[in-house]
Formats: sequence, C-alpha cells, structure tokens
Amino acid sequence: MSRVKKLIRQEILDLSAYPVPNASGMLKLDAMENPYSWPLVAKESWADLLKELPLNRYPDAGAEQLREALKESMGVSDQYDILLGNGSDEIIQLLAMAMAKPGATILAPEPGFVMYKMIATFCGLNYIGVPLTERFELDEAAMMAAIKTSQPELIFLAQPNNPTGNLWDEKAIKNIIEASEGLVVLDEAYTAFTDADHLALLDQYENVLVMRTLSKVGLAGLRLGLIIGRSEWLDELDKIRLPYNINMLTQASALFALENYDMLMVQTEQIRVDRVVLTEDLMALSGVEVFPSEANFVLIRTPEGMARNWFEELKEKGILIKCLDGGHPLLTNCLRITVGTTSQNERLVAALNEISNSGVVQ
Ligand code: PMP
Repeated sequence: MSRVKKLIRQEILDLSAYPVPNASGMLKLDAMENPYSWPLVAKESWADLLKELPLNRYPDAGAEQLREALKESMGVSDQYDILLGNGSDEIIQLLAMAMAKPGATILAPEPGFVMYKMIATFCGLNYIGVPLTERFELDEAAMMAAIKTSQPELIFLAQPNNPTGNLWDEKAIKNIIEASEGLVVLDEAYTAFTDADHLALLDQYENVLVMRTLSKVGLAGLRLGLIIGRSEWLDELDKIRLPYNINMLTQASALFALENYDMLMVQTEQIRVDRVVLTEDLMALSGVEVFPSEANFVLIRTPEGMARNWFEELKEKGILIKCLDGGHPLLTNCLRITVGTTSQNERLVAALNEISNSGVVQ
C-alpha cells in the first residue's frame, strides 16, 4: 500500500471521485437528463441501423459525417471547425492537457460545474474559482482582478450556468474575454433550453471557443460533446484526442438522432414549458426561494437548515435530486432539481409539499 502513496501524486490521493449516487428504482431528477424516451417506431429504425454496423472494424476516426451533421443542425458557419469528445467532459480534459504548462491556471466563476476544478487537478494545473455575487451574477470586478493577477490560460464560462441556471450579463462576458490573454470557453451545455447563444462571439474574438453536448437533449447515454471554433485551436486539440474516441455506436446513433431532430426538439420544448410550471409550483412552497432558470433544472433555497432533510426525505420517497448545501458557501440551503416529465414534476411537488408542511407542524 505504501507504494501507492509513494507513486500516486499527492493531489490525486487527496481527491474524492466524482460522486454518482445509486439511483436504481428512483425517480431521477438529479443529473439534468431528458426524462423522455423515443416512440417505438423510432427505436425500431434505430435498432435496425445498429444491427448493420461492422463492430469488428474501428469507427471513422474523424467522425466526418457526424461532424458535418452537427455543424448543419447547430448552424455553425463553414469558417469554423468542430471537434468531438466522449462527452464535453473529455473536451475539458483535452483543453486542460493542451495548456498544462508548468504553472498554468484554469479560472471559473463559482459555484460552477465541478469538473473544471477536478480536471485542473487531474492535469496538474492551478485552479482559481471566483465567487459569483449573492444573486449568482458575475462579480465583474473580482473576475477582472483575478484575471489581472493570474492571467489564466483557460477560463470557463458556462451559459446558462450549472448549478445556478442563469445567464450572465453579456457586456461583462465580453469585458472578461477582452481582458483575458488566455482562451475563454463558453460552455453551452444547456443551450437547448435558452434562446441565448454565443456563437457570434467566435466572429468577434480569436480567443473564444463554444462547447456543447448532446447529453441534455436526450442522449446522455451516448456521451457526445463538441467544441466549435477556429481550426487553429481545434487542430492542436485534435493532436491529443485519442484515436477513435467517438465509438461507432455513438456516431451512428447521434447521426440518427440528428436526422430525427424534431423528435428531440418536441421533448426539449415540453421541458421548457414544464420548467415554468415547476418554477411556479416551487415558489408556492412556503419559505422557499426559487432562482429563475434558463436550463433544464431549477435551483431552490430551502428554509434555514432544511436542505439536507428535504433531500433525504425525498430520497425515502423514491425521488433523487441534488443537494448542494455544503458544496459552496453561496449554496447554503440549496437544492437543484432537474425538470422531469409533467407527471414527474407533479410527484416531486406533491412530495415537497408534504415534507415542507410536516416541517412547519413540528
Ligand atoms: N458543462 C456543464 C456546465 C455541465 O453541467 C455538464 C454536465 N453536468 C457538462 C459540461 C458535461 O456534460 P457531458 O460530459 O455529459 O457532455
């Protein structure tokens, strides 16, 4: 055992693995998955397609057809390239590996997506988390000060942000890009649930890339993320991308899904409608603060000291959400709830009504 301690880097020994709770038999409202499946006819055509795949062969290493289809469906102009990852997590890792010079730094506003910090640690980069304001807006002055003192190689701005669900002031975003000598990645994992997008920033700034994923539109099981931008950047990342990182089943399934994009969009639209209803229902709970969301989840603040209880009590009722209390000082008493189907949301709200009322009586 001592050999493990001797050989493994101290910062890895100090880490805990990304927590994925056991969700068997639970209503899963914890991981921003799309709650819908496909109509049977679509599933059958998809299965017919998969049946014919030559699994004895390696997949198309460059995933040319899929990249073209993604560019088209996302309206990416021909001057920009697109690089694929095994989830956008893998793309964050590629970016970090490519920039991991001694002393290099990743900066991100916090609370934010936890993998930015974890991957910085995996790849031996420094990490700076700059707190958002109490209302989860960008603290522009603090961001500017941190950029000035550390000039990070890489800045991640998730829009909408996870776990707060909001969009930040566009002018503040531009000021950050302009102040940065590094690369700024706009992480648009939740782009399907908002009208805002940042592709236009690619035209204005040479130090911007836009990252997306198919995980939130119903394809989390495929693991397909993408990054869009100038080929000067993407060609370098492509050198460290492992060969065949996008397997044949993912390539074929994603192509199939893009050919049936309307089916996914109907689901996404429904989630957006249900987000409004869920937000209103959560606001009706006594003592609960609900933060407006542009994503497929809603962040709430429970009455003082109740978040962990509510999380546990929901779990006992077979509903899994995400408890954020303790994760970051700004997230004290906070819970994150993924928008489910209409009836799943109703079940959640009914359970929360019961739990919060029983708390009041006590
Ligand atoms: N970025 C953000 C902001 C996220 O919330 C997530 C998933 N929770 C990801 C990236 C990673 O997505 P994936 O690896 O599934 O593409």
